[in-house]
Amino acid sequence: MITIDGSQGEGGGQVLRTALALALVTGQPFRIENIRAKRRKSGLLRQHLTAVEAVTKIGNAQTDGAEMGSLKLTFKPGTVSPGTYSFAVGTAGSATLVLQTILPALMLGTEPSTLFLEGGTHNPMAPPFDFLAKSFLPLLHRMGPKVEAVLERPGFYSAGGGRFRVTIQPVEKLRPIELMDRGAIRAKRGRILLAHLPDEIGARQARMLRNKLNWPEDAIELTRFKSSAGPGNAVMAEVESEHVTEVFTGFGERDIPSGKVVGGVVDQVREYLTSDAPVGEYLADQLMIPLAVAGGGRFRAVKASLHARTNAEVIGRFLDYHIIFRQESQSGVIVEFQKRG
Ligand code: AMP
Repeated sequence: MITIDGSQGEGGGQVLRTALALALVTGQPFRIENIRAKRRKSGLLRQHLTAVEAVTKIGNAQTDGAEMGSLKLTFKPGTVSPGTYSFAVGTAGSATLVLQTILPALMLGTEPSTLFLEGGTHNPMAPPFDFLAKSFLPLLHRMGPKVEAVLERPGFYSAGGGRFRVTIQPVEKLRPIELMDRGAIRAKRGRILLAHLPDEIGARQARMLRNKLNWPEDAIELTRFKSSAGPGNAVMAEVESEHVTEVFTGFGERDIPSGKVVGGVVDQVREYLTSDAPVGEYLADQLMIPLAVAGGGRFRAVKASLHARTNAEVIGRFLDYHIIFRQESQSGVIVEFQKRG
């Protein structure tokens, strides 16, 4: 049985989620220890337990150790059953990360699936729904499957309670892609999300974003949500290019000045626009599983984070690939998948 050390590299939830996703795709059982050892609150939290529950149900799997706070888990997958499923994190834990755990297996399912996911949809340190819909899913589409996500209501930290629906038209095999250039930039857009907070917060953030990035007045829109369970605020900037769309996000928090939130987003946009690599830091680590499952391909990223390098190590335990990171002096890092042997 494959054994995974959850404290390796980045030592967070991604080590577990990658192992779960690939166990389901490859049918290989694994045991993981030291789950999320490098996080302040280590072990399985609600989001990770929901991901375990989801892969267990969809993959007719057997588990040992699937409890709150558990540092160890054994996972034995069975046959994947596509279908209609609902999973709720129950806290503001990220529902988009739960989706990413089950998506690879369902994209290769024998039939279509429909998923209803509840929890956080706009969380710090996780892919916001908009990133999923505009950046990640269109790239999966290019690999063959049709995956559509519709936001029913947003869930922000700390109330959670967001909900989205995902429909998956699977394929027999994923097509590898090459994403080495972004092509011409087609649009730059900003979006301020506000839920149960005064409009003036959003208006001020929109003004700051526009001034700092020098984007035109009509490039920034304010979206107000009445349907979310609690208050929330996100500042998003989107760079749409011919071959990829990148979405950069900052979250408003009580006691954090808007200048700091907007400044964080502006720094991310500037870093992306200074480089000419198509793939940003977060998209880089998330693209690795689909490419590995597709059996090849490559992309050029602005940088390779510890998350991406750790993901490569875990992927290498389940699939016969070397994942090579080649630093190009000015133009980022090329991430390439090569079959071993
Ligand atoms: P972990 O910290 O191990 O739970 O993994 C977090 C995951 O969330 C990684 O796959 C990151 O790429 C992703 N992530 C974190 N922040 C963002 C963001 N602002 N936009 C998109 N993805 C993100």
